[in-house]
Amino acid sequence: MDLGIAGKRAVVCAASKGLGRGCAMALAEAGAHLVINARGAEALEDTAEAIRAAHGVDVTAVAADITTEEGRAKVLDAAGDTDILVNNAGGPPPGMWQDWDREDFIKALDGNMLAPIAMIQALVPGMMDRGWGRVVNITSQSVKAPIPVLGLSNSARAGLTGFVAGTSRQVAGSGVTINNLLPGIHATDRAKALDEGVSKQQGISTDEAKAQRCKTIPAGRYGTAEEFGAACAFLCSTHAGFIVGQNLLLDGGGVNATL
Ligand code: NAP
Repeated sequence: MDLGIAGKRAVVCAASKGLGRGCAMALAEAGAHLVINARGAEALEDTAEAIRAAHGVDVTAVAADITTEEGRAKVLDAAGDTDILVNNAGGPPPGMWQDWDREDFIKALDGNMLAPIAMIQALVPGMMDRGWGRVVNITSQSVKAPIPVLGLSNSARAGLTGFVAGTSRQVAGSGVTINNLLPGIHATDRAKALDEGVSKQQGISTDEAKAQRCKTIPAGRYGTAEEFGAACAFLCSTHAGFIVGQNLLLDGGGVNATL
């Protein structure tokens, strides 16, 4: 399927690895030119080069922390007029509800709620003026089914989800869609770190931890960054203009719910 976005300009935050990289690669495959971001310059430049080599699009790499105002300013400087925005950042650490203080919450909110909102506020007005735009926020299955040890993530992502629910309806009339993609477990560094945590906690190997987790997923496996990226590229395509304010689970059936 031709996604209709060849030549469009996309910003993909937190994209040197994992799900962000998968989204960047899929948008490039559809012909979009990219500004990609992550903190670590080396992995980011490697990813930029891999995307250029695979798909021949323009890729500008901006090494910056997207959760800070300075970092976002650098990315926005490089971005200029942008048609597609994919919001992403690392997830907050696990822990126990009684241990988190105000600073922990502020950090989680900065990363997983306020940073994507700031990027939307910066780039969506231009999209509305030009009459076309796509925003996809990478959130988590924890928005639909809370993961108790990830209470900081549950809280911050719920805040972003509420913002998107209202805002997406305010901008849809200008040709701009905002939607959220909710990953279940995908085979990325983040999933490896979670498996290592379980392995240490339960005294089992990481392979055993992974096998144990796979049994909780009806598809029987972890998702891949490639299939996640393909879903993102579709939401960013010209075909997805009537999909507004949705929360799409990509979890192999992990969340046991009818709707
Ligand atoms: P990942 O494989 O660890 O990759 C994270 C990417 O984000 C890296 O490129 C990293 O590069 C970049 N990054 C992290 N913090 C950043 C920051 N402050 N500013 C700019 N770039 C930053 O993670 P992932 O699995 O793709 O996860 C992406 C998001 O989805 C996370 O929020 C995660 O919590 C959520 N999620 C993932 C899963 C899963 O199974 N993988 C499930 C549910 C939710 P640098 O470190 O160099 O900055």
